Amino acid sequence: MYETWKDSAACKGRVDLFFAPAGEREEPRIRREALARAVCMTCPVLLPCRDHARMQGELGFWGAENDDDRRVARRSLRRMAS
Ligand code: SF4
Repeated sequence: MYETWKDSAACKGRVDLFFAPAGEREEPRIRREALARAVCMTCPVLLPCRDHARMQGELGFWGAENDDDRRVARRSLRRMAS
């Protein structure tokens, strides 16, 4: 199913910022994710994007969260639901 919120994504055309290149080391990852986060903070669809990524278990940087942020968020949501 196509999600219409993607039409308003501020990250269109910025795959380089939102997905890690092969073999990326920690320092470049931190710099790349800081730039990606800055884009997300201007994005009108941050919340639906974040929800989508959490629900679908996406990989990469979505809704101002990286994979680790999303794992932590999903764990605490599961804890709250139980
Ligand atoms: S919140 Fe970030 S990753 Fe999600 S659509 Fe907006 S800019 Fe892209």
